[in-house]
Formats: sequence, C-alpha cells, structure tokens
Amino acid sequence: MSMIEVVFNLPVNRKFTYSVADGLDIGPGYRVLAPFGSRRLTGYVVATTETPPPGVKEIKQIERAVDKRAIFDSRLLDLAGWLSDMYLCSLGEALAAILPGGRREVEPEEMGGELAISKEVTLSSHQRNAVEQIGGASRGVYYLHGVTGSGKTEVFLQVSREILGRGRGVIYLVPEISLTHQVVDVFQKFLEQPVAVLHSGLTPSQRLKMWLDLLDETVGLVIGARSAVFAPVKKLGLIIIDEEHEGSYKSGTTPRYHARQVAMHRCHAEEAVLLMGSATPSLEAYHYMHTGKLRHLSLPERLSGGSMPAVKIQDLNGESVPLSRSLIREIRKTHEEGRQSILFLNRRGFSYFFHCHSCGYEMKCRNCSVSLTFHKQKNSMVCHYCGYRSPPVDVCPECGSIDVGYSGFGTERIEEEIERLFPDLTVRRVDTDSVRAKHGLKEILNEFHAGKIDILLGTQMVAKGLNFPGVKLVGVISADTGLQLPDFRAAERTFNLIVQVSGRAGRFHPDGKVVVQTYLPQNQTIRLAAQGDLETFYSKELEARRMLGFPPFTRLIRLVFRARSSAKSCSAAAGFAQILSDHGKDRPDVEILGPVECPLSVIAGNHRNHLILRSRNFKHVHALARQSLQRFQVPSGVYVEVDVDPVSLL
Ligand code: ADP
Ligand code: ZN
Ligand code: ZN
Repeated sequence: MSMIEVVFNLPVNRKFTYSVADGLDIGPGYRVLAPFGSRRLTGYVVATTETPPPGVKEIKQIERAVDKRAIFDSRLLDLAGWLSDMYLCSLGEALAAILPGGRREVEPEEMGGELAISKEVTLSSHQRNAVEQIGGASRGVYYLHGVTGSGKTEVFLQVSREILGRGRGVIYLVPEISLTHQVVDVFQKFLEQPVAVLHSGLTPSQRLKMWLDLLDETVGLVIGARSAVFAPVKKLGLIIIDEEHEGSYKSGTTPRYHARQVAMHRCHAEEAVLLMGSATPSLEAYHYMHTGKLRHLSLPERLSGGSMPAVKIQDLNGESVPLSRSLIREIRKTHEEGRQSILFLNRRGFSYFFHCHSCGYEMKCRNCSVSLTFHKQKNSMVCHYCGYRSPPVDVCPECGSIDVGYSGFGTERIEEEIERLFPDLTVRRVDTDSVRAKHGLKEILNEFHAGKIDILLGTQMVAKGLNFPGVKLVGVISADTGLQLPDFRAAERTFNLIVQVSGRAGRFHPDGKVVVQTYLPQNQTIRLAAQGDLETFYSKELEARRMLGFPPFTRLIRLVFRARSSAKSCSAAAGFAQILSDHGKDRPDVEILGPVECPLSVIAGNHRNHLILRSRNFKHVHALARQSLQRFQVPSGVYVEVDVDPVSLL
C-alpha cells in the first residue's frame, strides 16, 4: 500500500496522510478527492511517503484522483512553498491561489478602442535602446518608465519576440481583464503565433485545459491579470508587468500576494528577465530605480503626433458645481471644433450622503460602516461595499425632521447635468452600473472611437489604457475624492490617477487640454500632478514616507481579526497583541501598532480590528508574525486576515 501527503485549501498549515488504492499511480502535483471529517475535499498531493505519521491508527484512503496527471510540477510546488512562507498562509491555500478552481465565474467585458499597432513602426531611438538592452539580457529587473502614450506597448512586443525567438516563454501581465482583449489581438498579429489568455471568465475546465497546454509547451506567450503570474510557462524567459503601479496586482484574498513580488521571485528562481512599465511607477519602484535595484529605461516623448496636454486647475470654491463654468466652456468649445471630451469621476451613483440638519443623522449601511449612496435609476440607497439596498427617504428616520438633504455627486448626477446643459451633445456614461451587458463597454468605446459620442463620462473604467485620436479635452470632475482617506497611499493614488486620466488627452494632436476641478487648489499633490512633475512629487512623498516610517523605508504586516460581533473581534485582536508583546521582547526593532478598530470597522456584517507590525528589518517583522501566528489559537467564529506588505490599511 502506498501513501501520500495531502494539503487542503484551509487555513491550517498541516499535511494529512492518506493511502492510495493499489494500481493507482499518484504522485506530487496531483489533485485528489479525499474524505476530510464528514466532508470530501479536493486536496493537493505534495509528497509520497513510506511511513505513516506516529500515533495515527487509521489511515483513510483517497477516493480518487481529480486529474489524469500531475498539474503542478516541482517548480510550481516550490513556488507554492515560497508563497506560503512569504505570505504566511497554508501550503494548500497557496496551491489553490496558483490554480484557482473557483466556480464564481464572471463574463469578462471586452474593451474596444484603439491600440493601433497593426503595422511595423519605426522605433524611436529610445524605444530601440530599450529593446536592445532588455531583449539582449538573460536576467535582471528592468523598468520602462515612459510618459503616457510614449509607445511602451511596442517595446513589450519587440522584447517578447526576441525572447520567444530564443525558445523561452513569456508572461505578460495587465491590470485588468477588460484591457486584455485588445492587447491579445495586437500580440497575436505581431507575433504570428497563438497567445494564451488566462482570465477570470474561464470556466474551470477551460482554465485547466489552458494550464495543461502550457505545461506541455504548446504556447509560448500568456496574457492575463494578476493570477497569470503563476502560469506554468516552460523555460520562462520574461515576465512583463504593464501599468506596474496598479492596485489590482495585489490580491485581496488569502494569500494576499503582490504579482510584482511573485514575479521577482519567479524571475530570480527561473533565471528570467522581469520588465515592468508605467508612466506613474509605484513609489517603491521609483525608489528602487534610483537606488539602483532596478534598471531604469525611459521613454520621454509621445510618438504619434501628440504632446503632453495643457492642464488647468479649476478651484470649485464659489463655483457652479458639479461642473464649473470654465469646464462647461471647454466642453462647448471642444465640440465646436469637432473634437471629443472625456469626463472622469471616481464615484458612481447620484449623490453620496443623506443627512439630517436637525439631529445630524447620516444614513449608513445596515451591515457596513459606510454611507449609502443614492442611485436615482434604481431609486434606492445602495451600499457600495456589500450591495445592501434600502428605499430613499425624505424625512429623517431618526427624528422625523424634513430638514434633510443629499450631498456629494456621482456619475449619475453628472450625466443628468450634462444632458441638461448640452441637450445637443451625445453623452455616454461608463461605470459598473451602466455597463452590464457583455459587450456594452466594447460597443460604447467603438462608438466613441467612431465619433458618434461627444462626451464619454465614467469612473476608472475610462481612466486607463484608452487611446482615442479624437479626444481633445479631459475633465477631472473632482480630484479630491481619494485624498481624505486615512491611508498612507492616498496621495500616491490621487497623483497617479490624475496623471493617468490626463494622459488620455493630446495623444495624437498637440492641443490636448485637461481641466482638474478641486476644492483644494493649493494641495501639493494636485498641483504637482497637474504640472506632470513626477520628480518633485516622488521626492517629496518619499521624504514624507521616510519621516513617518512608511514603506518603502519600512515593511508592514497587517493582521485583521474579523468576527460577527465586535467583542469577539476585539478580544481576538487583544489576545494576539499579548502574544506579540511576549515574543516582541526579543525584537525591539519591530513596532506594534494597535490593536484598534479598522477605519472600515464593519464590512458586510463583519466587525474588524487590526494590528500593524512595522520594522525596517523585514526578517524580524516577518519572523515575529510567523511565530505569533503559530502560537495563536484562533477563537471559533474569528477569521484572521494576514497581509504582508499591505497596500491599503482601511
Ligand atoms: P503607452 O502604452 O506608452 O501609453 P502606447 O504603446 O499605447 O503608449 O502607444 C501610444 C501610441 O503611439 C500608439 O498609437 C502607438 O501605435 C504609437 N506608437 C508607438 N511607437 C511608435 C513609433 N515608433 N512611431 C510612431 N508611433 C508609435
Ligand atoms: Zn434627524
Ligand atoms: Zn454594506
């Protein structure tokens, strides 16, 4: 009788021994269906063994193998080991992240628009230099820092062709699945070979088929979002991370990995080149570029006839809101010149807060500690965190006063304003409320591209990657939305967003114009973003992070204790804090912040308390978290979220 060691997608870092029926050939890397307590679970085989674990009387037999072959090779098992180690999760959780089998499938939206590289272009000297340096390398970490519209995609294409030509594989990561399809077309045409796309819209069996094709080496290039960083590409030669600064590269569920960190590890372990690119690098990347840990290549100019747009900051104090007179004027002028406008606002819905002027009541979600947003089309108050809805009211539910009001504006409200102000112009709203249908977004973007839409209004969905020749004007309706968040990255995010949105203007004509509306016209982040002054922003922000002891000068580990009751969440966090301070005595260089309620103290009915560990020494902070987690008995009804290098502390 042979025996195997199996791990499960559970928060317990333990291997379980099972026996295998005679004649069944199962080894490491297989998935199996195994009895577990009263359930049957899919597990991952990580080893074979001769000796049963001591003290175990009865060894259960696995029910069957899930696949005909191993789906993880030794390289991927090693990667899972590293993940579990680095992100403090179980080996089973790591393997489940590498090849998710989930059922919660969503149809991806396709993105139309213009990427316009069907022909061979003559590379600029900066592009050529980048292609030669990176394409000629066999390892190392490169950063392609180019202004928006500077032709980074072209460099990615040519470097990929180089690497594929040497018989090595390529992984190309993009921040969002909606951007994938246009990129796939371009790559397929250019490389003249099939390209695999790993995205969340695949059914488990489609995903598995693609996975096995990659293991068998029938495709050389894979495109996908975050989890494609695990693609089992044979003889990996290159990983590209496009728009490296994007928050979507960080996983929001266990293990909370960052695709950049995983890519660094893989490229190191498999001797491949890592190439990242963005117009607005993350602060970390910028820091490492200047300390020599990353090789920095720059693309300083726009190539297809455009130039950087003129940016105007519009003070909203004392102005007509939500659209200032000068923005209204510019929209009108742009239309008269036969050109188009993009308006950006990072908030959906009609208006934001319902409050009572008599008693101060504010309408919050029943399950979350956030305000409800009024959606006019749905005629309800909606929670953007958990989806809870309640009917709109016009008297205070608390004191009965009718001296109540709604304030703050979202995209729905802007749409109404525009229709009122410009009855002769065609406006389309693009946000997750308006774009539901499978091809909705693609159609809208195609129409916009064809000039049938005058004003494209939307959330982040219009902020990135779009490349439309007809656009002259970009209006940022409110630059302030993200600034007040109690998060150390608030300034960085605001800066990136303004620069990226502004980057949609003037890509093909040198007369692009941007209007940035704000109640804080003197705010440094907004001013520097408007000026496109990256150097000053990054150096000031780095200085602030250094002074305050935030990354990249320290490393953080965050532990969130989630429970249905506030008392449970609180006492779990306090219990953990006790263990930390016992262990922490030997590690004076690790600071323990908290426990304290999270800024978002309740989400979907779960109460949240957190602790943040901070140190200049990653080994120390990591070891302290690991040892304390090993010692900690998780109380029933409590879930611990472990976040190594968190990007958000909300
Ligand atoms: P980025 O990703 O840097 O924002 P893109 O790669 O989308 O920019 O390129 C912007 C535009 O410049 C595209 O329309 C592309 O076709 C064009 N382009 C890229 N390289 C060249 C070149 N060498 N000559 C002319 N046009 C180019
Ligand atoms: Zn009231
Ligand atoms: Zn809610």
